[in-house]
Amino acid sequence: MTETFSNDFKTEVLQPKYEQNFGASYQPHVSYHYNPAVSQYHYGVRHPMKPFRLMLTDHLVIAYKLYEKMDLYTPRAATKEEILEFHSEDYIDFLQRVTPETLNKFSSELKRFNIGDDCPVFDGVYDYSSIYAGASLDATEKLLSGASDIAINWSGGLHHAKKYEPSGFCYVNDIVLSILNLLRYHPRVLYIDIDLHHGDGVQEAFNTTDRVMTVSFHKYNGLFFPGTGYLDENGIGKGKNYAINVPLNDGIDDDSYIRLFKSVMDPVITTFKPTVIVQQCGADSLGGDRLGCFNLNIRAHGECVKFIKSFGIPMLVVGGGGYTPRNVSRLWCYETSIMTDVTLESKLPMELPFRNFFNPDCSLHPNLGDKLDNKNSRKYLDNVRIKILEQLRNLNGAPSVQMNEIPPDFKKLTAEEAAELDALNNEERDSMVDAKDEARPGELVE
Ligand SMILES: [Zn+2]
Repeated sequence: MTETFSNDFKTEVLQPKYEQNFGASYQPHVSYHYNPAVSQYHYGVRHPMKPFRLMLTDHLVIAYKLYEKMDLYTPRAATKEEILEFHSEDYIDFLQRVTPETLNKFSSELKRFNIGDDCPVFDGVYDYSSIYAGASLDATEKLLSGASDIAINWSGGLHHAKKYEPSGFCYVNDIVLSILNLLRYHPRVLYIDIDLHHGDGVQEAFNTTDRVMTVSFHKYNGLFFPGTGYLDENGIGKGKNYAINVPLNDGIDDDSYIRLFKSVMDPVITTFKPTVIVQQCGADSLGGDRLGCFNLNIRAHGECVKFIKSFGIPMLVVGGGGYTPRNVSRLWCYETSIMTDVTLESKLPMELPFRNFFNPDCSLHPNLGDKLDNKNSRKYLDNVRIKILEQLRNLNGAPSVQMNEIPPDFKKLTAEEAAELDALNNEERDSMVDAKDEARPGELVE
């Protein structure tokens, strides 16, 4: 249908981009941590992980003017000392030294450190890792100081990285580093993972403690990457019952996912009583993801995050997987609007760079929900829920914490060192940001 009246570009641009929601009693202070340098790295042409999805997300956040609703920070890179709070020195030394040109000098290390198609050595791989990890640590620090109630780093969430090696496109585990930092002041940290894949790196790091509860919803059949995350993986020793896994089959739809998510997370939060939450928002659980097999729409994914927000507990929000960049960026922009409590116009703003990339609908909410059959019967999901509720009954409530068990302090920078580091980071960043808006040829083609 043709419209009898259509707005000119200028009028369109002047349209309000969002509507403030009213009525919510919880009005958190939100911060957004984004270092544009992170989107300039490149895993390789055929590799599904595309850091430029972070630039697209940022363009959407800016076009919708969400910056009016948050504190914006351009974070520093993590220092090597900070990264070594979790990772082994020989692995990080290797990551720092290796380049695509010197690969042949490292043949024994390549095997030992699991370098290959999933986790290639690309130009600047160490810098890339320290930038996204620094953003998560920066966000964590704003939560600890009380400056933010919700701190967002979409470049973080790399949940597969292990102490001694990279895994599943993840080199440094920014989530583990952030949780270690939070544990210095918080007695109990809840980690929630709604990526398509099992949050194995985080679960493994905190498997033996009752101070971190990990909950992961993911596709599981024993073979699907990373192969772990069945119902019976519940933690070890003191951490027994403090790891929860929700294994799902292909094609889960919005209603079943939301129902299961809420019926698990509500008792988890009321039993464990976390003082801070880390929410991983991997976007590969959306329908139509290049590596995905679920049927979730953007609103359903967001509904889970909205539900967690409604408990009013301080929260670090990070990204994760997500391999159809236009949908990843739609999702993370939408979830930023949930955090800032505004309703966005569905039609993407006219001044959005690369707007054609979101054709043909140019909408924030394309239909992603009917691609695959739902292989999760009502009975299967009921059984999963019942098993998890049983596990929760075995928890003796929230552990009270002996603060002498707190992991050793991060080596704190002096104010001068921090300023020096900031100056260095800014210099480096300025040289990279010039190229910010110029996506490489072919990159916007999937
Ligand atoms: Zn994933």
